[in-house]
Amino acid sequence: EVKEKGRAHYRFYHTHMKSSFPNYIIMESHLRKAIEKGELYVHYQPQVNLSTGAIDSFEALIRWNNRKFGFVSPAQFIPLAEETGLIHQIGEWVLEQVCIQLQKWRGKGYRSVRMAINISPKQFLQEQLVETINFYLSTYMIPPSCIEIEITEGAMQDTQQTLKMLKKLKDLGVFISVDDFGTGYSSLHYLKRFPIDVLKIDQSFVKEIGMNHKDSAITTTIIHLAHSLGLEVIAEGVEREGQVDFLKKANCQKAQGYFFSKPIGPKEIEQQQFVLM
Ligand code: C2E
Ligand code: MG
Ligand code: MG
Ligand code: MG
Repeated sequence: EVKEKGRAHYRFYHTHMKSSFPNYIIMESHLRKAIEKGELYVHYQPQVNLSTGAIDSFEALIRWNNRKFGFVSPAQFIPLAEETGLIHQIGEWVLEQVCIQLQKWRGKGYRSVRMAINISPKQFLQEQLVETINFYLSTYMIPPSCIEIEITEGAMQDTQQTLKMLKKLKDLGVFISVDDFGTGYSSLHYLKRFPIDVLKIDQSFVKEIGMNHKDSAITTTIIHLAHSLGLEVIAEGVEREGQVDFLKKANCQKAQGYFFSKPIGPKEIEQQQFVLM
């Protein structure tokens, strides 16, 4: 794609990149071996139902701890994985880990836990994505309704291919959510076109709700929009009690953020005695 080539070109030749460029290559070679070396793992961040206080869903977020680089943020290595094609292997690995975790929890009686998984644009354009998801769901006997696929607006180009993929996911029975909602182009246009279940209000709007008039107005409007369209709505990046109060008053269904919990390991989740259902 032209746009992606443009981005790679920028990375190669922009002067700011010069010093970090060798690192970028070294990092790729480390990332390539990360799965087999057991350096990757998944953390789970609770999503809180604001009317009941219950936690019945989580977002799966990948983590990488490398001997040379230490903890590397997915905001850094996921784009690298995308550009090098490693995303296919890594994405499939995350999917399997999530299914394994869900199977464990289901075995302990937490049968309606739902897990949101981030799918990056390149993964989303993969022809076999739906078959791959279906394979792991049946291998670990997970109902499709326990999985939510998070797609960013960047992945949703207005093409027949996007529509076809979303319809196939919908037919499979997984939930579809729009991550970082409101930050891309033509958000309203594809809400009309595509079969979406959940809107995730981007952190940048949630950050100053109750303090900044425009952010408050945008957040309230997205919540109303979701309700009118019969969609679920969740606010990301909730760090303060004031934000929780605002979101409750605005009738936002769910919230996720450091105020409730950082992304944590499965053992910690069980120890926290969250109201798993
Ligand atoms: P995202 O999907 O929008 O995830 C939300 C990010 O916000 C996560 O960062 C999360 O740890 C962070 N966060 C949660 N609550 C708060 C809060 O209250 N305050 C602040 N400041 N941040 C909060 P993280 O884990 O570093 O992930 C960054 C991005 O990397 C994700 O953004 C997602 O786009 C991507 N990513 C993470 N895991 C995966 C994965 O398994 N596959 C793919 N394709 N992408 C992933
Ligand atoms: Mg996400
Ligand atoms: Mg997000
Ligand atoms: Mg994001």
